[in-house]
Amino acid sequence: MDSSKRNKNQNSLYIDTEALSTLALVKAGLISPVDKLMNEKEAKEVDRTKMYKGVPFPFAFLLAPKGKRNYKTLENLKKGDAVDLISENKKVGELIVEDTFRIDPIERVHNIYGTADTHHPGVKNTISRLGEIAVSGEYTVDYPLIDDNIKRIQQMITKTGAKVISSMLLAANPLNRAHEKIIRQAIDESDLLVIFLRKPFTSAGLRYDIRHKALMTFVDNFLPRNKVIIVPFENTYIFAGYNELILDALLAKNYGCTQLVIGKNHGGLGLYYDQNRLASIFDECKNIGIQIKTIDEYVYCDTCRTLVSTRTCPHGQHHHVHYHSDSILKLMQSGLVPPTILVRKEVSANILASLFPNRFDNLQEMHYSLMPGSGLLEQQNEEQFYLKLIKLYQTSSLT
Ligand SMILES: [Zn+2]
Repeated sequence: MDSSKRNKNQNSLYIDTEALSTLALVKAGLISPVDKLMNEKEAKEVDRTKMYKGVPFPFAFLLAPKGKRNYKTLENLKKGDAVDLISENKKVGELIVEDTFRIDPIERVHNIYGTADTHHPGVKNTISRLGEIAVSGEYTVDYPLIDDNIKRIQQMITKTGAKVISSMLLAANPLNRAHEKIIRQAIDESDLLVIFLRKPFTSAGLRYDIRHKALMTFVDNFLPRNKVIIVPFENTYIFAGYNELILDALLAKNYGCTQLVIGKNHGGLGLYYDQNRLASIFDECKNIGIQIKTIDEYVYCDTCRTLVSTRTCPHGQHHHVHYHSDSILKLMQSGLVPPTILVRKEVSANILASLFPNRFDNLQEMHYSLMPGSGLLEQQNEEQFYLKLIKLYQTSSLT
């Protein structure tokens, strides 16, 4: 641009990484048919009909960043104005204004979450980020992570020649035996499984890199080669709403998957029971063009002495151990090894070693004194120490 024409007070909008990630998802075509910020007319229609271009879409796609600076800018923008998008003090994109319009933040939150109750974590987060003026128009953003994901999945599909491509969204917080069972079942019925590993913008639960490493430990050592690809999935506010399943289905479909696997106890599913008939989500997903596959809840039965689906075991609730992620995570965060019926020992060892680095003053000495067959010359790391310890826990005495 000719510098003399450049407006000294170049318009800038300040957005957070969550907004940037969402803009990038849409721009990359992953939420297609939504491919741009909606104008006022489109936004009103989508909020009313829950449809966009013949495909179910639960709420308008808007950019309405909060803050005094942003408000002042948005108030004065005119059609055709160029705006720099700034995130973490860096220019990350550009937008050409189509229109600006006022929105009601409470109504907006209601459209996304089905409630405006601020006790809902999503509501609280969105209200803290949402301004009163939205801007629409064509935009570009720079966000390499998403292009990398698309490329990696495409390369894997080409390399394996996969036709049936299954997918699931997983927090793996932490990865437990029931997750493993569902993953195996999905692999069994498809050529390739894409695991979208949730990467939230909050710091709740285990760190992403710890969850990723634990999942890799399982995939690399206990599953056939070239059957699984793990892709980071940034859990932005659009996926936190009560219509999350539709967004998940759109995302998986646009990444090239033919099937989305969900647990029958998925929180978002209850919404779709229509007179006890699990119908509408499947009807809606037909329009999206992806098959939805539900999987039973798995429990450990102390009488069957294995992992069973609640549908195939006759022993009843009081024999069942549930895979309750929060409780398993609490054990680990307290430094305890979860029972191996809940979490595979390799995964526990990996996570504990990451959570409590260098917790023992003299690890080598602990090794020599506790573990059978530890050669004096071997240097042992903490992960190996936990592995051997768990093995010891499982060793029963002769009585
Ligand atoms: Zn049983």
